[in-house]
Amino acid sequence: MKEFIFKPFGEMTETDYETVGFKSGLEIHQQLYTDKKLFCHCPAGIYSDNYDAEILRHMRPTLSELGVYDGTALMEFKTKKEIIYRINRNTVCTYEMDDTPPFLINEDALDIALGIAL
Ligand SMILES: [Zn+2]
Repeated sequence: MKEFIFKPFGEMTETDYETVGFKSGLEIHQQLYTDKKLFCHCPAGIYSDNYDAEILRHMRPTLSELGVYDGTALMEFKTKKEIIYRINRNTVCTYEMDDTPPFLINEDALDIALGIAL
């Protein structure tokens, strides 16, 4: 293993990043103008301050497909973070309540996201 000596950001090279094992990604959250939601068939874009039910949830870490726990889920579990879901019967389904896996991806949303990414 190569030794890495700390240096200012402007002096970092690709080799330095490889040495420290640095990996980075960018996650963007943005609602897209589609008829349906991303991973289910519920209508998208319907908002209201009215809701039919509230559900209190606590994060429960589970192993990912790679056999590791998500760090954020672990931290929220340790802090006993409470998350309140306000649901509207017209725009919620079993997927949003984490009762079923995601359905097939909304192809329109995928096209828009790929366009933005490109
Ligand atoms: Zn849904």
